[in-house]
Amino acid sequence: MKDRKHPPDEDLARRLTPEQFNVTQEGGTERPFSGRYHASKTPGEYLCVVCGNELFRSGEKYDSGTGWPSFWEPAVEGAVETRQDLSFGQVREEVHCANCGAHLGHVFPDGPRPTGLRYCINSAALDFRDEGERG
Ligand SMILES: [Zn+2]
Repeated sequence: MKDRKHPPDEDLARRLTPEQFNVTQEGGTERPFSGRYHASKTPGEYLCVVCGNELFRSGEKYDSGTGWPSFWEPAVEGAVETRQDLSFGQVREEVHCANCGAHLGHVFPDGPRPTGLRYCINSAALDFRDEGERG
């Protein structure tokens, strides 16, 4: 048996679905319109599927028409971090969870006011907490 560089991955592989694992740990992208949340307007909070960190809220979610959940701002400053992603011959800003480093999606400078940003996030990286049930 060889040493593994990232022992926690084995645990995650059991806890997450293959798609959740691919997106958050391997930087994958789900097919557009395939996820659970791209069209959702239910009031609530979107949490990191890996660590439960609050990432986004329904109040900053909008319909970008891309087939992925889109937000113009994170739930709180510092909830997510970005870094330059040069894969596929493109320059993009990759978005990941500031707490656990899970890959979430990308951010693009073509969003609505007031930020002008579009956080294009995979449903598979998110867990949803419904606020509506308290009445
Ligand atoms: Zn996380």
